[in-house]
Amino acid sequence: MEENQEYRVLLYYHYVNVEDPETKAAAHLNYCKHIGLKGRIFIAPEGINGTVSGTVEQTEKYIRAMRHDEHFAETIFKIDETEGHVFKKMHVRPKRELVSLRLEDDIDPKEQTGDYLSPKEFYEAMQREDTVVLDARNDYEYDIGHFEGAVRPDIRSFRELPEWIEENKEQFEGKQILTYCTGGIRCEKFSGWLKEEGFENVSQLHGGIVTYGKDEEVKGAGWNGKCYVFDERLSVPVNQVEHIVVGRDHFDGEPCERYVNCGNPECNKQILCSEENEDKYMRGCTHECRVTPRNRYIIENKLSKAEVDERLEAIRREKIQHA
Ligand SMILES: [Zn+2]
Repeated sequence: MEENQEYRVLLYYHYVNVEDPETKAAAHLNYCKHIGLKGRIFIAPEGINGTVSGTVEQTEKYIRAMRHDEHFAETIFKIDETEGHVFKKMHVRPKRELVSLRLEDDIDPKEQTGDYLSPKEFYEAMQREDTVVLDARNDYEYDIGHFEGAVRPDIRSFRELPEWIEENKEQFEGKQILTYCTGGIRCEKFSGWLKEEGFENVSQLHGGIVTYGKDEEVKGAGWNGKCYVFDERLSVPVNQVEHIVVGRDHFDGEPCERYVNCGNPECNKQILCSEENEDKYMRGCTHECRVTPRNRYIIENKLSKAEVDERLEAIRREKIQHA
């Protein structure tokens, strides 16, 4: 019986040289399946990055095994309690890089990276005038939660970040740059790149937002909204003292923290919207996404042509009213 079991999620990465990621990944997958974990792990020549879920016993077993691994013994695990698995399957995939900035000369965080700030140091630095807080994540991650006043790069994937910085350099010149991301892995490389680019004063939040939210001293202070995560939970709380909703409904701009994927499989964009608006707009982020014959919402709900037209008409009428 598993129903009374406590489950946990482990989030971790470790930059270390791995000579044969393919072989390592295959063996790792076997072991994870054997102990019953679910999740997604990447192994690259530059190290390991994973999120896995399992019972307390399973996750303990995994941590112990990692402690005895010649490469990954020093990995730091962020542990979250949860009600069950947060993945459907177990994947371990070899990869060229753990995170990609698409650079000609890649950054090795073991050699070049920003200064590490503890949650408390990060909190204090944020209060100072000469600092700028820079979110190193994607726009849709920022939109459901971020540090108050943080700069939001207008990017949909991490590899777009260097170009965005080049175009918006003046915001950061002469300031101490404080970068942060979910668990810290992206900042390791990104802050190293910023230094390489000539920014002298670059710091990163050690352990990322997830660690910041669990820190006993800062208790997530200064964070508004929730933290986007790449598993079935979609987001987790950060600020233990107050919760300010910053997410906004894609359709009506009302406060909202509910994610859906656009019903058009070719778009698949993650948008925030209420259940009511999901029905009203048939889960389509635009008119085009609504009316595509492949719209999953229409298929799942077996809407007839007449029913679809009726809803489109209702949207049109409301638009005219508000115009
Ligand atoms: Zn769409």
